[in-house]
Formats: sequence, C-alpha cells, structure tokens
Amino acid sequence: MPPVSRDTALLLDIDGTLLDMARSPERVIVPVDLLRALDRLARDLSGALAFVSGRSLVSIDKLFAPLRPAAIGAHGGEIRSAGGRVLRAPPVPESVRDIFVRLSRSTPGLLLEDKGVGLALHYRLAPEAKPMLTAAMEENASLFEDEKVHIQYGKAVIDARPFGVDKGSAVARLARQKPFAGRTILFGGDDTTDLDVFRVLPRLGGHGFSVGRRFPGADHVFASPRLVRQWLVQLAETGVGAS
Ligand SMILES: [Mg+2]
Repeated sequence: MPPVSRDTALLLDIDGTLLDMARSPERVIVPVDLLRALDRLARDLSGALAFVSGRSLVSIDKLFAPLRPAAIGAHGGEIRSAGGRVLRAPPVPESVRDIFVRLSRSTPGLLLEDKGVGLALHYRLAPEAKPMLTAAMEENASLFEDEKVHIQYGKAVIDARPFGVDKGSAVARLARQKPFAGRTILFGGDDTTDLDVFRVLPRLGGHGFSVGRRFPGADHVFASPRLVRQWLVQLAETGVGAS
C-alpha cells in the first residue's frame, strides 16, 4: 500500500478510482463509509486532500456533500483551493460545442455533459456509436486545432477542453498552494487523463497509484475501486501516522 503520513497530500480521481463506474455519471454511488473516511482524512491532513476529476465542481460537490475539500474539476478546467477560491479556464468555443451537441443528438443513448470549461460526450449506453464519433472527431480535427481545443478519449467518453488545460498542470498548480505546498503528493487515478498527472509527479516529488491497470511510474496498483475504498477506510480508522 502507498505510505501516508501527516505530511502527505492526498489527490484522488473519482470515477473508476474511488467509485465504481455506472451506466451514467449521475448513477454512481458514494458509500457512506467512504464519505466518512474522506472527511476524517481531510481533517487529519489539515485539508491537504483534493479530488482530481473530469467532473465539474458542481457535480463533485453534489456527490460528496456535505464534504467540500479542495478540488480540480473538468480535467483541470476548474481549480478550487482548500480555502474555496475557484479558478476557471475560459469556456469551450461555440463552434466546438455545436459539433458536440449535434453528435449527442444523433444517436439515442449518447449523453453530453457540458461543464462550460469542458465537454464530455459519454457513449457508455450507445457503444455502437463509437466508430461514428471517432470519425466525426477526425473530420473536425482541423477545426478543433484552430479553436485550440484538445480532444481526449477516456472510458466510454470523449472529452473536449482548451489547450493547456489538463489534470497534470492543475495538480502542479495546486501543489504550490497551502496546505499542499511542501507535502509529498500521493495521487491515484485510473484513466488516460490521469496520465497527465503521472507525467508531472516525478517533478513534484510525488507518488502515484493506478487502479485496474498499471500506469508508468505507479508505485502500486489496486485491482478495483472497492480495494481503494477499503484502503482509505482502514487508513482513516488507524489514523495517518507522523512522518
Ligand atoms: Mg477516473
């Protein structure tokens, strides 16, 4: 298990890391013991616990209420400090939004998540649409390039967000702020967008674990989100030790 002390900053992806994937992002379940453990750990770490998610901050807060720690939302498009200050990237251009809206209406089961600073087109309920969506992304590649929008494929989802906005850059930024600065980062993630964090971890002197598959640079691999939750609950019960 990754070591955690009072000098650790715990940075956690949500879907596929803390929570089991569901048919749609709204249908995930946050177990009460996880919520309790996160609350306890956030206090033990003096607030140095943050979510790092593709979800918007609004969506994150709805899931984990009343817990409201520091958080990186929309793959880095939103950064909330431990003190509650929110930094937001500019919204995705209309031309790109139009394409995503049109695509989401083309096939039943496609779900568009509009985060303002980012778009996510989920096709978990319409996996047969994937070749069509991939073709549409390729067709519009030069428009995305002109609009400085980056397209990324995740687990049954296609994300669009401005150039320069990614989880890695956002983590590097958060790591400079109180109470994260000077702590050893421990990050956990499971999907392609989390690789951006694994890329900056060595520079930040941090460590990472992955879930479901081995990421380059990961110190530990959990087989499933359930095992991550088990570890966190146990950690909260025993308490984080002094360094
Ligand atoms: Mg994830």
